[in-house]
Amino acid sequence: MNALISLRDISKTYRNGDLAVEVLHGISLDIEPGEFVAIIGQSGSGKSTLMNILGCLDRPTAGEYLLDGEHVSGFDPDELAGLRRRTFGFVFQSYNLIPTASAQENVEVPAVYAGASARDRHDRAEALLSSLKLGDRLDHRPNQLSGGQQQRVSIARALMNGGRVILADEPTGALDSESGGEVMALLRGMNEGGHTIIVITHSREVAEQADRLIELHDGRIISDRTKKGRSNPHAAMGLKQKAFEGVAAIADISEAIKMAFRALRANLFRTILTLLGIVIGVGSVVAMLAIGTGAQNSVLDRISSMGSDLLVIRPNMANFRGGTGGSVVTLIPADADAIREQPNVAFAVPEMTSTVTVRYGNVDYQTTANGTVPEYTQAKSWSVGKGEFINQSDMINYAPVAVLGQTVVKTLFADGTDPIGKYVFVNKIPFQIIGVMSEMGAGMGGNDQDDTVLVPLTTGSMRLFGQRNVRSITVQVKDGTAIDVTQETIQALLDRRHKKQDTLITNMASIREAVTETSNTLKLFLGAVAAISLLVGGIGVMNIMLVSVTERTREIGVRMATGARQRDILLQFIIEALVVSAIGGAIGVAAGLGTGILARLLGAPISFTIGPVALAFACSFLTGLVFGYLPARNASRLQPAVALSSE
Ligand code: ADP
Ligand code: MG
Repeated sequence: MNALISLRDISKTYRNGDLAVEVLHGISLDIEPGEFVAIIGQSGSGKSTLMNILGCLDRPTAGEYLLDGEHVSGFDPDELAGLRRRTFGFVFQSYNLIPTASAQENVEVPAVYAGASARDRHDRAEALLSSLKLGDRLDHRPNQLSGGQQQRVSIARALMNGGRVILADEPTGALDSESGGEVMALLRGMNEGGHTIIVITHSREVAEQADRLIELHDGRIISDRTKKGRSNPHAAMGLKQKAFEGVAAIADISEAIKMAFRALRANLFRTILTLLGIVIGVGSVVAMLAIGTGAQNSVLDRISSMGSDLLVIRPNMANFRGGTGGSVVTLIPADADAIREQPNVAFAVPEMTSTVTVRYGNVDYQTTANGTVPEYTQAKSWSVGKGEFINQSDMINYAPVAVLGQTVVKTLFADGTDPIGKYVFVNKIPFQIIGVMSEMGAGMGGNDQDDTVLVPLTTGSMRLFGQRNVRSITVQVKDGTAIDVTQETIQALLDRRHKKQDTLITNMASIREAVTETSNTLKLFLGAVAAISLLVGGIGVMNIMLVSVTERTREIGVRMATGARQRDILLQFIIEALVVSAIGGAIGVAAGLGTGILARLLGAPISFTIGPVALAFACSFLTGLVFGYLPARNASRLQPAVALSSE
């Protein structure tokens, strides 16, 4: 029959920089199934080192290790993890329970990595704890339990996946003699149930309770004796308990998320500070882009409200620099008539303006008079609120009629009198009010567009403005796609009529493009600022994860001892980083939206779009992944024996 464990000439050398110390010198040893072995020796004799090798937590420097007749020296870290999961149960002097988890959760850990279902895990952990008289302590944290109780929890954990071989390193070392006695009795009972027990101790009294005593001195076996008359009739029968099958590809993700929440809750203040970085980053992305988009949309709306298929013709003032001074005659109403004859022109609206004094009753008010034509309302996309607008016959008859803007109405008719039909004096000339415009609001330059009196171009030109030139001609084209051609045609027409180039045509479509371009640049800039804060948040996450890995090195060691693969540890820490950044991202999105809504209440134009919100959240998630990866990888590459011995 094959020995369960067979060591052949095992040696172990620790290397610290240039210093190499050989701790085990050629250990050879066979252990049969069902044995109860004590390894005894003084402190520093190499007992723990030997146990780490026996339990596949560490590799020997030289020699052969056969488990069930199989060479394990060539196993990779994950295969060794599988071996630990299926074969070994560890009991440590300092219990090594996860401090943030309850007794039951601690016992369940090995089964998580074996892929047992949550239900099976719960039931088995409860049954094991009950059989160890801890049935009423399932929800207690390690710090709420006595030393003896904690050691029983760790024994339950060792049994969770079957625990064919129980390796106990000074299991009674930290206990009073009574609790220590209980633990030894438990081990004895387990041995009778078929478990192979290897106890490591420096106490002869404890060692005497085993069936076989191996004595270690300075890394060599100096005696190995089996007590006569002690045999284990159950050993050959093997284990009655059935082990969980280690089949899960990865540890349950929901379990990892639960563990992440627990770890984060344990350091609440620190977690909040970490969150804050992400919250500020994501929040500023969301808020800044909402503000940027809002500002852009508001400008574009104003341009659109003026109509997008428009050409605005003005005198080219640059040509008059240092010139004639006074009023310059360039554009005249006849130009508008000529333009109107061109193909692809829907209408051409000339405007003359002048500052005037309007009087009603005994109220004087200074405003701008605007002489124009009936198509004015279409060109400006500005409708009449009440009454009528100037019509063609008003033009022909030089009618002294006026249409008022809201600001003028509010000033002159403050008492609420209906202005329609009333007469006002414009520069002392009586005009009858035929209509009132709807409210237009501020223009692009922030000027009040409602502060105006509209009169027929003909009447205004003759009686108010005393001049022939128009300030601008607004042209609406029929086919917007041909606007550039029409612009050239009109420019050529005007140059011909004026015999020189003294007019400037602005294409509203091109302005719109320019505005879009500038504000896109602005958005990019805002986005970059926000992205930088997200980066800073990400570095915060990485920092905290690195600290967390350092703090929990021992926990990582325990998880590895109970069979966690490297990728299980990697996954757990990445998920922890992801949980932080996802929570931070969610709060950040809420904060960003909240800031935006607040800004909107304060009057700023804000526009929320799903894109940046989703992007910011995705970025925070990505941040967690990228910045969580390095710490998680560090954690997963720890050597189990090194992690377990960390302080
Ligand atoms: P025991 O458990 O019997 O007290 P150990 O196996 O822990 O003994 O240690 C045996 C010897 O190996 C001691 O001298 C100790 O200082 C040394 N040792 C243990 N672990 C390391 C390590 N990681 N690096 C260097 N030396 C170590
Ligand atoms: Mg030791």
